[in-house]
Amino acid sequence: MDCLFCKIASHEIPSTILYEDDLVCAFKDVSPQAPTHFLVVPKTHIADLDEIREENSAVIAHIFEVIAKLCKEQGLTDGYRVVSNCGKDGGQTVGHLHFHVLGGRSLAWPPG
Ligand code: 5GP
Ligand code: ZN
Repeated sequence: MDCLFCKIASHEIPSTILYEDDLVCAFKDVSPQAPTHFLVVPKTHIADLDEIREENSAVIAHIFEVIAKLCKEQGLTDGYRVVSNCGKDGGQTVGHLHFHVLGGRSLAWPPG
């Protein structure tokens, strides 16, 4: 499958990987929107939030465990934001489920 984040997760396309295991890969966003901005993806292809089902949802819990660990490692003691854009209206541009983790500055709310 011609999927950018499948290729990053399998090291076919290089990225700055912060963490990986059998299930997930976390890597720096190529166009950071905050001093800390990384993405966490499942290694298996799931297109977006809308494709989460009972059969594939265990990895989502694991992703959030990894996020908490990485945010501690990155020193984000003042907080951070986790975002997953879904579909056209959600602003998704890469069709492989990913969670943005943003921190290191105060973030505006609500989003535009
Ligand atoms: P989305 O718009 O789908 O929520 O987020 C896609 C994210 O992937 C964007 O923040 C974009 O900067 C990032 N991105 C796109 N292409 C690449 C790439 O080749 N490498 C990395 N590390 N990030 C990418
Ligand atoms: Zn994929």
